[in-house]
Amino acid sequence: MAKPVIFTIDDDQSVLNSIERDLRAHYGQNYRILPINEGKAALDYLKKLEQRNETVALFLVDQRMPEMSGTEFLMEATKTYPQAKRVLLTAYADTQAAIESINEVGLDYYLMKPWHPPEERLYPILDELLEDWKVHVRLPYEGIRVAGTLWSLSSHQVKDFLTRHQIPYQWLDVEKDSNARKLVEGVSREIKLPVIFFPDGKILIEPDLKELADKVGLQTRAALPFYDIAVIGSGPAGLASAVYAGSEGYKCLVIEKAAPGGQAGSSPKIENYLGFPTGISGDDLARRAVSQAKRFGVEILSAQEASQVEIKDAYRIVKLSGGMEISCHAVLLATGASFHALKMPGADALTGAGIYYGAAYTEAMNYMDKDVFVVGGANSAAQGAVYLSRFARKVTVLIRGHEPTASKYLVDALNENKKIEILLNTDLLEVKGTNALEQITIKDTRSGEVQTLDAAAMFVFIGVRPQSQAVSGLVKCSDKGYIFTGLDLMVDKKPPPSWTLERDPFLLETSVPGIFAAGDVRYGTSHRVASAVGEGAIAFALMKEYLKTL
Ligand SMILES: Cc1cc2nc3c(=O)[nH]c(=O)nc-3n(C[C@H](O)[C@H](O)[C@H](O)COP(=O)(O)OP(=O)(O)OC[C@H]3O[C@@H](n4cnc5c(N)ncnc54)[C@H](O)[C@@H]3O)c2cc1C
Repeated sequence: MAKPVIFTIDDDQSVLNSIERDLRAHYGQNYRILPINEGKAALDYLKKLEQRNETVALFLVDQRMPEMSGTEFLMEATKTYPQAKRVLLTAYADTQAAIESINEVGLDYYLMKPWHPPEERLYPILDELLEDWKVHVRLPYEGIRVAGTLWSLSSHQVKDFLTRHQIPYQWLDVEKDSNARKLVEGVSREIKLPVIFFPDGKILIEPDLKELADKVGLQTRAALPFYDIAVIGSGPAGLASAVYAGSEGYKCLVIEKAAPGGQAGSSPKIENYLGFPTGISGDDLARRAVSQAKRFGVEILSAQEASQVEIKDAYRIVKLSGGMEISCHAVLLATGASFHALKMPGADALTGAGIYYGAAYTEAMNYMDKDVFVVGGANSAAQGAVYLSRFARKVTVLIRGHEPTASKYLVDALNENKKIEILLNTDLLEVKGTNALEQITIKDTRSGEVQTLDAAAMFVFIGVRPQSQAVSGLVKCSDKGYIFTGLDLMVDKKPPPSWTLERDPFLLETSVPGIFAAGDVRYGTSHRVASAVGEGAIAFALMKEYLKTL
């Protein structure tokens, strides 16, 4: 923890040196002594201390200074540090001013110059004030602070990224907290959000995720020029494959555009994964898998999107959106699926401002005692509704069909929960809101009745879309973009004409030798954590076979 500051100001350099020396001798071990010889410069410095979230324990300020009196300085300084003790250093002639400022700035003491011997005339007074300060002070949060608004997509993305990487941070809402707003205004005139304050004093303004990942110490660059296996995507399929590859000594790199865990990582509680009878949260599962993979020497890049995969002789090249290229022998596409975005007018502008896709649980707490909506009737939507009901006053689940398609245990949980209402045969027609979602319009498809309802937030879990863009045009995919592998590639028991090898494609191999697919991105998969893990493990075994043939 940074030492609390004792701030001392005097325009007379020899007095300043002398007070600094005395303060350092007695308090230097536990406090940072900051001497400054001018009030305005001191106020500027205070801003920096505030941005770094440092604490000031005591101001010891000369009353008579040319540009700004000690009282005037304290008046300003205590707006930022109201808990700091305030002491004026006065000459006999300034006693009256000091007495007046007792009320004006809540002065704690005025000390007459000279203060020697300090053991009698300085330390006992300051000791007492500092003891009192220690008892009452609320020390500031020492980690990363994210200042933004609830209604901003980029603020949401930063919070989500940090949460998904299990990096603790403090959220400062600039709309609700005037100190947070002041802090942000002190950084730049043009307000761009979020602003991220780091304990070392560094500030990032509206950073992209790669910049943020670099700053928080996540790996964003590959350490080697070449890998045996590159895995794209760090959901259950990618991580399972990487754990096996690493454990068998293969050089394996995992490339992740967001955060480890994939869709599973966003699940509040996975209850049907083998071995966890009371369920396990997705982030816990992801954290365990990441440590396991890293223990076996696997590298995991965060905030790096694979934009294209190419073939160069026996090499497979993965191009990253930032321009980097990874060379390897085998590639596993474990890029999973993502939820469809709503197509109706206005929905894009409200994304991150009340409309969230998937389990945006970083935001759930913000909807305490409010009315929220969940769109979708499958497992993820049902889980989302149950989780949100812990915070919201009411959760209405909008389902287009005539019944939920979620597993029975989740449908039971929905029905038993008094805070949850299910609206079947319901179409979402419109979303409305100026800066944030305010209302939605829905239609009962049987009766034709249309209603507009107030909505604080809406969590959308409809229609998943495979994330296979990096290989579109390279490997064979279904109309919807799911990647064909193994037997699904065969026509009349023959591989596709583009296939170049004597043997048929392996079970999880795509139409290009050495490029494999597993999990939710693969055609015919069952969209479950266990299936993804199983496929990831099998894909590794098949990649091993492939590597033997090179
Ligand atoms: C909220 C929710 C709850 C769920 N609950 C359950 C449950 O209880 N039980 C169950 O069995 N299943 C559950 N599922 C389904 C399960 O999570 C998925 O089937 C599983 O996560 C699929 O794993 P995957 O590895 O194939 O893909 P994903 O988990 O989708 O992971 C793919 C990863 O690839 C990354 N990626 C994508 N494209 C790129 C690219 N170009 N470059 C780099 N990285 C990329 C993504 O960011 C993502 O991290 C749930 C899903 C959701 C959304």
